[in-house]
Amino acid sequence: MNAPFTPDLISLVVPAFNEEENLPVLVERLRDVMEPLGPYEILIIDDGSTDQTKAVLRQLSQVHDELRFISFSRNFGHQMALRAGYEHARGACAISLDADLQHPPELIPTLVQKWREDFEVVYTVRKPDPTLSWRKRFTSRNFYKLLRAASDLELEDGAADFRLLDRKVIDTLKSFKENDLFLRGMISWVGFRQCRIEYEPAARFAGTTKYSFKKMFQLAVMGITSFTTKPLYASVVLGLLMALFSTLFGLEVLYEYFFTDGIVSGYTTVVLLTLLIGGAQFIVIGIIGVYLGKTFVEVKQRPPYIIGDTSEIEEVITWQAPAPRAYSSPLT
Ligand code: UDP
Ligand code: MG
Repeated sequence: MNAPFTPDLISLVVPAFNEEENLPVLVERLRDVMEPLGPYEILIIDDGSTDQTKAVLRQLSQVHDELRFISFSRNFGHQMALRAGYEHARGACAISLDADLQHPPELIPTLVQKWREDFEVVYTVRKPDPTLSWRKRFTSRNFYKLLRAASDLELEDGAADFRLLDRKVIDTLKSFKENDLFLRGMISWVGFRQCRIEYEPAARFAGTTKYSFKKMFQLAVMGITSFTTKPLYASVVLGLLMALFSTLFGLEVLYEYFFTDGIVSGYTTVVLLTLLIGGAQFIVIGIIGVYLGKTFVEVKQRPPYIIGDTSEIEEVITWQAPAPRAYSSPLT
């Protein structure tokens, strides 16, 4: 189901992971908001939900013509769901928002108005929300801080995945071949005429957050390693500092050996040094490992996500074996 482009159509892209209770309400609210704005489609990406999300989507899509859905074969994560949404959107622009109604649909007309004023990216930034849990605020704030420090990206605190992208931007993103696509960073990176809008996040309508600590950590590592190789340089600096320290310490030990008597001190120093150097090595190897791992994943060129089901019955996915590659032996 590759998206033919339809002028004037506005696509709404909604990733959903176990959101069965939110979707009917969301679709109603979206319809109310979109009706006056002209033709639209709602494209929901079921990210391998384990509850009734898919059944709910099937039902809803039978009632509402403008609703389409894609269902992943398993959970590939929010970023992949968004990406699939952009890749399959047919609109002249696409607006992404969360399924839990934290991104108020009532803001959509403002986004569309800015787009009609010729902005190509209309992104939103959430105002600080005092009701958010301490953990969430802390992780979010520090995530952006770390990302800004580690890369050259200008990402604002509270930048959310609630944004409008013009067709030009969507097509640019679609042309990227990298698997590990950190969209928030990429959208800041691609440029275009951008407009910023602030909004008050609402409370999650039903259910609990689908972003576990593990998923947030993965997102942070992905964000940093997708945009910068600075940590590799940091590891070189760390290595150099260790080398300097070892040289000084070595000189000191030699001095003691030649110019002082009775030098059998040292058990503690040996242990400390071993730990310190060992530790630094682990850090450096770990950082190199992360980048090497990414190279490994990218080189394989696996599909970034797999669609198991869609609302379009005629477009059943058929798997085609790739043509065998010509192989010539280096020995002949
Ligand atoms: N989501 C997803 N796949 C995941 C986790 C989350 O598609 O693996 C969706 C989720 O259904 C929601 C959006 O991403 O529409 C944001 O997730 P959530 O509201 O749980 O995150 P929070 O608002 O707590 O940061
Ligand atoms: Mg949410």
